[in-house]
Amino acid sequence: MNKQILLILKACEFAAEKHRNQRRKDQARTPYINHPLAVARALAEEGGVKDLEILAAAILHDTLEDTQTTLEELRKAFGRRIASLVAEVTDDKTLPKQVRKQRQIDHGPSKSQGAALIKVADKICNLRDLAQSPPKHWTVERKGQYIEWAREVVRALPIPRHRMRRVFERAYASTNSVGLPTSSSTSVKRRTSSRRGISNG
Ligand code: NDP
Ligand code: ZN
Repeated sequence: MNKQILLILKACEFAAEKHRNQRRKDQARTPYINHPLAVARALAEEGGVKDLEILAAAILHDTLEDTQTTLEELRKAFGRRIASLVAEVTDDKTLPKQVRKQRQIDHGPSKSQGAALIKVADKICNLRDLAQSPPKHWTVERKGQYIEWAREVVRALPIPRHRMRRVFERAYASTNSVGLPTSSSTSVKRRTSSRRGISNG
């Protein structure tokens, strides 16, 4: 069997096992594994990413942060590069949530290309989930805050001309088309009302 296919299948099996008792935060409690699989698929299909180690790391991207998986375990099973890509997209969970969110923006510019691509794909998939199957009980304001924060994270990443940036911008715009607030929509409203103000005055 082709070694590259085996790597991807092994990553799928490993992540499915680690996330086996977890669910997404949506009403339907979607199995968690659907999310990392969607992230890897977005990278391959929409981003044209062919580097199998980046795709494997995308499948594994939430194992360090959200399960008992250790870095050593990832190194042993998948080697140094994949383990280090996963580590690069993992928050330090000992820090308060607000600090972690700010660090995702501040540390963006120093990310490797592979980690930056996984991060943008992660945010694309989370915005799509927010639009289609949002966390239960989140208010419109909270969704709006998440969308704007995700955009700031993506803007800080060192991939200015990669096509995944455009895919992100489309996902950002489509959150607005399902009625979620974005700074673009509020600034358009503001511009419209100030134009109206001028013509009325
Ligand atoms: P969370 O980090 O709690 O949740 C967002 C994360 O949940 C996503 O990044 C995603 O991460 C995961 N996720 C799981 N299911 C879904 C889904 N269906 N759709 C989208 N994402 C999903 O939220 P915040 O990022 O908002 O961070 C919490 C912060 O919010 C805290 O700082 C707290 O102070 C604040 N807060 C604000 C409230 C408000 O009303 N404004 C109320 C309570 C807290 P992954 O890719 O890792 O799966
Ligand atoms: Zn994720």
